[in-house]
Amino acid sequence: MLGFEAWVGPTVVDATLIDWLEQARRLMSAQRVENHRVVIVGSGPAAHTAAIYAARAELKPVLFEGFMAGGVAAGGQLTTTTDVENFPGFPEGVTGPDLTDAFRAQSVRFGTEIHTETITEVDLSKRPFTYRSDSQEGTAETLIIATGATAKRLDISGARDGELWQRGVSACAVCDGALPAFRNQPLVVIGGGDSAMEEATFLTKYGSKVYIVHRRDELRASKIMQQRAMDNPKIEFLWSHVVTEALGGDGLERVRVKDLKSNTEREIEATGLFFAIGHLPNTSFLNGQLETDDDGYVITKPDSTATSVSGVFAAGDVQDKKWRQAITAAGTGCMAALEVEHFLASA
Ligand code: FAD
Ligand code: NDP
Repeated sequence: MLGFEAWVGPTVVDATLIDWLEQARRLMSAQRVENHRVVIVGSGPAAHTAAIYAARAELKPVLFEGFMAGGVAAGGQLTTTTDVENFPGFPEGVTGPDLTDAFRAQSVRFGTEIHTETITEVDLSKRPFTYRSDSQEGTAETLIIATGATAKRLDISGARDGELWQRGVSACAVCDGALPAFRNQPLVVIGGGDSAMEEATFLTKYGSKVYIVHRRDELRASKIMQQRAMDNPKIEFLWSHVVTEALGGDGLERVRVKDLKSNTEREIEATGLFFAIGHLPNTSFLNGQLETDDDGYVITKPDSTATSVSGVFAAGDVQDKKWRQAITAAGTGCMAALEVEHFLASA
């Protein structure tokens, strides 16, 4: 928020008057700021499960769902996927966007106040905690951090911003796969996890062939996802390979790959290159105020969502680099809300 001096610009105004007006402005804005019992940051399964539990406990939760925070739409990572087949309650599967819409509707039904804004800053040095979004600031007795994680990109020559990034190079097959440039063309997916298997399988709907380039000779993906990719006649695995360069003109045309065992390089034709190499936790707005591990994941106490700051709880992928599933995110969201309830009752 601008100070009073900034409003009046270059005009010479008596310093005492400025001080007085500045104090008045602070008082007025302090009166406007509501101190919430719990503010939830995020909008995936962790955030909405926390909101549903907190709302039903009559804690009047306020949820900031973000506006393309970390490059992900409100609703979280599931908005970037097609079929979710492992979330209980949907025997025929459910699309990611339908599932996240249902989470949100359930939060709203129990009275969660939702703001489509990204939290840009928090002050965790004292309670109530202060938070700022793009257009407002406020305070909260407790915070639940459920900001998830964002897809990682590789720093490959030709694939950077201003080069072929978003002109054939992407980190979201589900978002971009149906583009005309990828139809009936060879495509490349990098990675060996569930995302790579899923994205490659999805891309076979559009591409003529899909290469999975993986740096090792075994996959990290779950058995069922591996099998699905291996059984797909349009998918070819390039084991122990890495991509060293993206080549093309207006759009991607070729990809240079290196065989790590023979140390030889070759070019393959491809109009699409998709990174599916994991995610980074969205913690930059915390500015180092919570303890994290070396990869930036928020550290929570064993069997708890409590963080290094009393009154701040973390749920979902932002604190989980092991399980990273919608159902585990929802589970820890539930834990966080119950822990908030106990914390407020005993505070
Ligand atoms: P996320 O889903 O990551 O959501 C966090 C949200 O918070 C995002 O919308 C983000 O924009 C927002 N945010 C970030 N920073 C801020 C901020 N400062 N202020 C406000 N908002 C902010 N799991 C399954 O169980 N089954 C599947 O089939 C499955 N398929 C997947 C397919 C893909 C392609 C991917 C990438 C993941 C898949 N997963 C699946 C994993 C699952 O999506 C995640 O485990 C789950 O979404 C994590 O939920 P979350 O609540 O922690 O956060
Ligand atoms: P993962 O971390 O599981 O896998 C990342 C993959 O990328 C690994 O194979 C890794 O190789 C590779 N990789 C990482 N860095 C590099 C690099 N610099 N160069 C080359 N390759 C690299 O991430 P995912 O996004 O696949 O999955 C995240 C979570 O989401 C998982 O828990 C997964 O189960 C879940 N998920 C579930 C789905 C489902 O159930 N339908 C679908 C998609 C995701 P290496 O193996 O050598 O480390």
